[in-house]
Amino acid sequence: MNLLAEMSWEEVKEYLEKDNRVILSLGATEQHGRHLGLGTDHIEAEAIARGVGERSGVAVAPTLNFGMSHQHLRFPGTLSLRPTTLIAVLEDLFRSLYRHGFRRVFVVNGHGGNTAALGSALHLVADDLPDLRAKTFEWWTDAESYRVVIDSLGPQVGSHASPGETAFMLAVRPNAVKLNRLTGRDAPVQPSRDFVTLQTFAQKYPDGIMGLDPHAATRAAGEALLAKSIDICVRELENWL
Ligand SMILES: [Zn+2]
Repeated sequence: MNLLAEMSWEEVKEYLEKDNRVILSLGATEQHGRHLGLGTDHIEAEAIARGVGERSGVAVAPTLNFGMSHQHLRFPGTLSLRPTTLIAVLEDLFRSLYRHGFRRVFVVNGHGGNTAALGSALHLVADDLPDLRAKTFEWWTDAESYRVVIDSLGPQVGSHASPGETAFMLAVRPNAVKLNRLTGRDAPVQPSRDFVTLQTFAQKYPDGIMGLDPHAATRAAGEALLAKSIDICVRELENWL
């Protein structure tokens, strides 16, 4: 596998003579209910990125383990970057990759709080880096991958630390799953015009779960979700001219 963390600069130079694609995974360090580790989002994103790198041979950059998690700051352990910081970090990463000759960046985003900053950073660099291209994949917003969750576990309301995400973690990092800590309480996500902030998130979702109690999660569902996510990303990379 072509992991940038394990390649020397000379190996990267050789890689760039043949390919200009790179996979960049984004995560977060934030609360994920009483039952999942704080690293859930970066663990999941990295599992997809590495699976895709292994299958495709495309270079894999180290995962960004921190993201914009302000709405989770009431929960101990959450480490958040300000939106403006995250935009600046992403902009710098895109510029660095571009400087070396990477032109197609496939972003595997593991955290919804990063989506706006990612879009902003790409808009900001577009003027200066006109032939930089980017694709993004998020397993919970992609209809094809989320279909696996629905087919395995039934229609789920919400995504954060809910049954789908718990299943994913049972597949990729079971040591970070503690189902015995669940209260059995559901926190359905209702459509609302209210903007969810640091103040209101913990009121709406006191356990930190957005959605149903995750007891129904299964490792098999998580494995199917991971496999489908990898298939989708490999297909996108192979068809990316
Ligand atoms: Zn998550």
